[in-house]
Amino acid sequence: MPATATRRPSLPTRPTRGRRQLIAGCVAVAALLGLSACGTASGALQSPSANAPSPAGGQSAGVASPQQPTGTAATTIAPTSDSDAAGGTGSAVPPVSGKPKSPKSPTGSPTPDATAPVTATPVTATPAAPPAHAGAGTVIGSTASGGRTVALTFDDGPGPATPQILDLLAQYHVKATFCEVGQNAAANPAMVKRVLAEGHRLCDHSVHHPQPFAKLPHDKAVYEVTAARDMIVQAGGPGTQVTWFRAPGGGFNADNEHITAGLGMSSLAWSVDPRDWSRPGVPAIVSTVQSQLKPGGVILMHDGGGDRSQTVAALKQLLPWLIAQGYTFDFPAV
Ligand SMILES: [Zn+2]
Repeated sequence: MPATATRRPSLPTRPTRGRRQLIAGCVAVAALLGLSACGTASGALQSPSANAPSPAGGQSAGVASPQQPTGTAATTIAPTSDSDAAGGTGSAVPPVSGKPKSPKSPTGSPTPDATAPVTATPVTATPAAPPAHAGAGTVIGSTASGGRTVALTFDDGPGPATPQILDLLAQYHVKATFCEVGQNAAANPAMVKRVLAEGHRLCDHSVHHPQPFAKLPHDKAVYEVTAARDMIVQAGGPGTQVTWFRAPGGGFNADNEHITAGLGMSSLAWSVDPRDWSRPGVPAIVSTVQSQLKPGGVILMHDGGGDRSQTVAALKQLLPWLIAQGYTFDFPAV
């Protein structure tokens, strides 16, 4: 991830109450390793990512114009082949190590990639009003409640696997967060409505899933964040709340974090990345989650962007395992 200027290399988490926000600091090292999950910001750079930012409609920035969707809105898109996480392009950015505020919880970042914890700005939690972010530099990677909780997040949908994932979540009475691609939401509003009706929450994952996201010119970034939020709201119907923005590939930087905060959303990373988008095999997905998860963690998985049968199969094992481990399900911090 783009190392934003504002990030401090080593600020341990600070005991913010209510939210231990971690930050994902994607360090250059991570990019080099090409491991982590987020598409790297830099790594992906030149990758001609399929879904490149697009079209035109895009530039305007209006922070709130509800109707920005360009004509592309109706197109279904599968973000680049994969995920955010590595965005198919292989890059990576790591997320954050979720760290619960609890002083005793393990703080080490689970992933091998270097992460640079950043300080989070304490925000007053006000459900109704958008949090007053202090600006860039704050990316969340932990749950809202901390303790032995976990937040499941699914990116790149809605897609063909979304119904199966929703069925599984319902079976275990689990609520999750869906980071939707604007074009996919616009193409399948019924699924967005189902997500909401079943008690899950929404996250903006850009209109076209361009990568490396951190390299987008300001105007494009404004469009990708703003228009996607508007498309998701339109698909979900009046009153739809989109609480977070997750940069494709974890490509956060000061600019998009600021844009996100200006829209009243929080930048959301993750602390556990099983790289399910790369289809490493069900056992690998399951074991990675089991080994990387720490209390208060945010797990990154995908319900869109390609064949998600491994994700679904892994989830069938992980849900009962999480419950057996004493985890309760939460949403990410804001
Ligand atoms: Zn993604």
